[in-house]
Amino acid sequence: MDIEKKVWEVLLSEEEISTRVKELGGQISKEYIGKKLVVVSLLKGSFIFTADLVRHMTIPVRVEFMTTSSYGHGEESSGSVNIVVDIEKDLTGYDVLVVDDITDSGLTMKFVMEHLKQKNPASVKCCVLLDKPDRRKVEIEPDYLGFTIPDKFVVGYGLNFGDYYRNVPYVFVVTDKDR
Ligand code: 5GP
Repeated sequence: MDIEKKVWEVLLSEEEISTRVKELGGQISKEYIGKKLVVVSLLKGSFIFTADLVRHMTIPVRVEFMTTSSYGHGEESSGSVNIVVDIEKDLTGYDVLVVDDITDSGLTMKFVMEHLKQKNPASVKCCVLLDKPDRRKVEIEPDYLGFTIPDKFVVGYGLNFGDYYRNVPYVFVVTDKDR
């Protein structure tokens, strides 16, 4: 599919995203006061969301990155999750907050949270910018959520299309011109 020949429909504007991310940063800061917070950002999709979210946190926070297998160039999950790059630092006693761009089938987040629980943290919760509950294959509810969206393939604000367009500052849906 050639994205340039399609219509880009803005789903979430820069302003809407910014307002919500600020709110989330404030809420998380309040709830993690006095705790040893470590944010685990899932690459590559959540790098922009994480960068904005942690800058709205008013408490000390460690930031770590993990790489899991993702959609690549397709639009469908392969169904199996692999950890490509794991956290090397000790998480013992830390309150872990896993940050991702989107929860679709839920397989990635469920797998990562179970994996991190093996590392002896005090707690493991998750924060996602977007949630597509209609696509869920496993039971998981984001602890912190930006927006619930319909079952559509979205791009921008870290989310890719063929590994491009992550730098677009808003979230958009790609549709056919003659639709
Ligand atoms: P899940 O394991 O929940 O099915 O999918 C998680 C990952 O799939 C996300 O981190 C993201 O990389 C990718 N993904 C799921 N839905 C979309 C989408 O609508 N657009 C893009 N660009 N990636 C998606």
